[in-house]
Amino acid sequence: MKRFILLLSAFIVFGSCYISEVQAQQQWDWHIAGGTIIDGTGGKPYQADILVRGDSIAFVGPLDPDTVRAQKNVDASGKVVTPGFIDPHAHGNPLETPGFHNFLAMGITTIVLGQDGSSPAVGELDDWLAKVEEANPTVNIAMLSGHGSIRAKVNVGKQNPTRQELKRMHRLLKADLQDGAFGMSTGLEYVPGMYAAEEELKRMAAIVGENDGIVMSHMRSEDDSDMEASLDELAQQGEFSNVHVSHLKVVYGEGEKRAEEILNYIDRFREQGITMTADIYPYSASFTGIGIVFPDWAKTEDEWKNALQERPEVLRRFLKDKVEQRNGADAILFGSGDYTGLSLKEAAEREKVSPVDLLIKMGPEAASAAHFVMDQALQDRLLMGGKVMVSSDGSPTMRHPRGYGSFAKIIRYYVNEKELLSLEEAIYKMSGLPAKTLGLNDRGFIREGQKADLLIFDREEIEDRATFEHPHKLAEGFNWIMVNGTHVRGDGEFNKVTSGRLLKGKGASKK
Ligand SMILES: [Zn+2]
Repeated sequence: MKRFILLLSAFIVFGSCYISEVQAQQQWDWHIAGGTIIDGTGGKPYQADILVRGDSIAFVGPLDPDTVRAQKNVDASGKVVTPGFIDPHAHGNPLETPGFHNFLAMGITTIVLGQDGSSPAVGELDDWLAKVEEANPTVNIAMLSGHGSIRAKVNVGKQNPTRQELKRMHRLLKADLQDGAFGMSTGLEYVPGMYAAEEELKRMAAIVGENDGIVMSHMRSEDDSDMEASLDELAQQGEFSNVHVSHLKVVYGEGEKRAEEILNYIDRFREQGITMTADIYPYSASFTGIGIVFPDWAKTEDEWKNALQERPEVLRRFLKDKVEQRNGADAILFGSGDYTGLSLKEAAEREKVSPVDLLIKMGPEAASAAHFVMDQALQDRLLMGGKVMVSSDGSPTMRHPRGYGSFAKIIRYYVNEKELLSLEEAIYKMSGLPAKTLGLNDRGFIREGQKADLLIFDREEIEDRATFEHPHKLAEGFNWIMVNGTHVRGDGEFNKVTSGRLLKGKGASKK
């Protein structure tokens, strides 16, 4: 009877979330008390405690502190507790920089690598993943298989692959997916992805679909005039697998109205049963090789040398028009090579040549640069899109602030200052939505059974510090971070523990 009353009173106190007497006797690793939970679904914040055991969230709900015995307690009152963020489009080499503090410091606990058509160890992803595991990354890592890397490995060249070659490409892709890749990335604006035609991409997408993966695409062109055609091409692959637009942008497009047209265009595919999503980084400059301003027939070192011999004037005119169209020589800021930190205009002045002559001298592969080619109002509106999530497209070494600031900037700028997003919408775009998109079933939300990737923070303290001048300044404010149940950052200090894991996509179960 006594036992019954005890249970009954527990039920009354804790409502439907009550923790049974038996559970109360158990040892927990962590008790996160008194926080405001923003659970990654986009739903309203609520007050609750969280219990963590091992690497997982074991309980979420109201708790009487007297009944709980945990190894460690953390008082989250006055703060929010959210899932760790998931970056669906990141760069970096985990064998070289497994620390990835640039990502962790902005709340990212999972990154997706193998982007833009390029991935390491095609066909031998298993071996590479084993090496990454030994390197002890601090964040979870999910991989994509790079279409361009597969194409290069099979040595297809500029033509369409032969039947034999296509078969080999299929085999390599399937091997990667069954080794755990979450899908395939394409880089259709780069060599060699740009040589791939519709049929090849559709056939590859079919392999992705059979293995429950996703095609994430740096599309054929991001120019305003080409956007619909690029989206159409991706949608065709969407008949075979889920598809996703990487770093959605409209180069030299303008205004909110144009953004709404693009979002509606994507929605219309969704009405046709095609699952299309997108990610976006919150800056109006892109970062890529200067080859992006060179014509298709002068994208490689060899082609450029050829063009210098055979049609230097056509090349000169093309570059002149392209640089002008892309907001001029001021709008290209070198991030690698001899002119790092200078704009094309400044570098040309230093060399006492015209900007176009400097590009002609350098060639398409000499440097990367930030390109200020986006309209803020347009990009801001795109970010509000319902199926649009946040990415960094950054790395620990890239000279663009997005690799250090993106996720913090979303909260500092879009939530706190501009109030364009509520905090729960922003968290959804940085955790639940990318998890659903990737098919990560055990991350992205705060609920029982999910892996304990967690953040505790005060939204007012979140700040992105990285700028184009100083792109490698860590973000501030994410002072308490847990990855797979391990406390990796407290009081703003990184603990010397690593607990990132290599995640596997659904294809791995088909091996
Ligand atoms: Zn890209």
